[in-house]
Amino acid sequence: MNTNKSKTKIYCNVSNHDITKKEFKTIQKRMHKNIENDGLIQNQEKFLFEGEKLKDVIEKDKIYLDSVSITFEQIAGRLETLIEKFYHMENLHYSKTKKLQNNYIIEDKYEINYDDKQNFNRQCPFQNVELDNIYYGYSHYGKFSIINLQNKKQIQIDTVQIHMIKCHNFFGGPKSSQRL
Ligand SMILES: [Zn+2]
Repeated sequence: MNTNKSKTKIYCNVSNHDITKKEFKTIQKRMHKNIENDGLIQNQEKFLFEGEKLKDVIEKDKIYLDSVSITFEQIAGRLETLIEKFYHMENLHYSKTKKLQNNYIIEDKYEINYDDKQNFNRQCPFQNVELDNIYYGYSHYGKFSIINLQNKKQIQIDTVQIHMIKCHNFFGGPKSSQRL
């Protein structure tokens, strides 16, 4: 008999293959109810809506990415690079002017806006804080919007989402406005 029943092994360095059915259900429930591991209700939109199944969403996205030969890591890596460049520009600007600015053009192609009022620090719903209490977003809370100036397409993202794409292959539920 399993005496360690209440403990789960899920945390952010476990690949999806090693997450059990039961653990997936726990994560899915956190996303549906929008609760963090410590039970606090988050004042923001859900990662996943009722009726949306976490495993199905991840599998469907994987099939699509395979069909276009792109990996989750490539997408997350590209987003990380853009955010790093944003902070590099911010540092340069601040050292010159002693002022902060929320908007920069990166690589002559992307306009990145940072809004610290739009969102809160979000915890990764895959995480078991008892085993692993690192914060997987940047320490900045807020939301980035990235606009491609050539085709005017825009995405909105926070850094926990980038972590989830990279480590959990999760872009968000189909009904979520925050899905990438
Ligand atoms: Zn995570």
